Amino acid sequence: MNAPIGIFGGTFDPVHFGHLRLAQEIGELLRLAEVRFIPSGTPPHRAAPRLAPQQRLEMVRLAIADNPLFKADDREVRRSSPGYTFDTLSELRREADSTRPLCVLLGADAFLELATWHRWHELFGLAHLVVAHRPGFPPESWPARMPQALAREYEARLLKQPLAVHLSPAGGIATQAIAALDISASLIRDSLARGASPRYLLPDPVLDYIQANRLYLGD
Ligand code: ATP
Repeated sequence: MNAPIGIFGGTFDPVHFGHLRLAQEIGELLRLAEVRFIPSGTPPHRAAPRLAPQQRLEMVRLAIADNPLFKADDREVRRSSPGYTFDTLSELRREADSTRPLCVLLGADAFLELATWHRWHELFGLAHLVVAHRPGFPPESWPARMPQALAREYEARLLKQPLAVHLSPAGGIATQAIAALDISASLIRDSLARGASPRYLLPDPVLDYIQANRLYLGD
């Protein structure tokens, strides 16, 4: 069977080292063929991002330019309607060989919100979910923070061994500890708005782009 493709969606407003370590570590540990970064267009789940989709895509391109494992995918940026993960995944499923495993990568905070996503139950028919640990969301706290419907899926679908994502095209949940980096895009936006430097929290080419275009300054 072909190696799984990793699918990593997010607002990336801006992309930072927390995102990049997640993609690198999961990509290596799960022996993924590639990790596709898919910046959201108009996200259905949350307040509008600070920057336009094209700018967030450009920052992702700058951040991953020298990494052969990573690809930027602009399909949600090109779409004018709210981009649901379900629609994106259905499209990716149609493009891939039917036996090719797809793995949606996400942090624990995003996973705990899964039951609010459009047609979330059906995502398991399209891909595996790979949940990365994130500071502030320790695995012991997940059961108490999950709605019952999600807890049931979690229990039924949890893979004993993350590499088992190679054995079927979709349907499992894998969890993975990664370097605990307590970095968030909001932390970076806040420091820029305060006039503090977020250097060393995100790649230099991304920070150069932000500064050259005078982005995220106080309102
Ligand atoms: P914001 O602070 O604006 O909410 P964010 O830093 O959480 O943004 P997103 O673009 O919303 O970034 O995240 C995309 C994905 O990356 C989500 O699945 C999220 O859980 C994950 N993620 C982001 N930062 C980290 C981190 N430091 N460690 C682990 N996962 C992360």
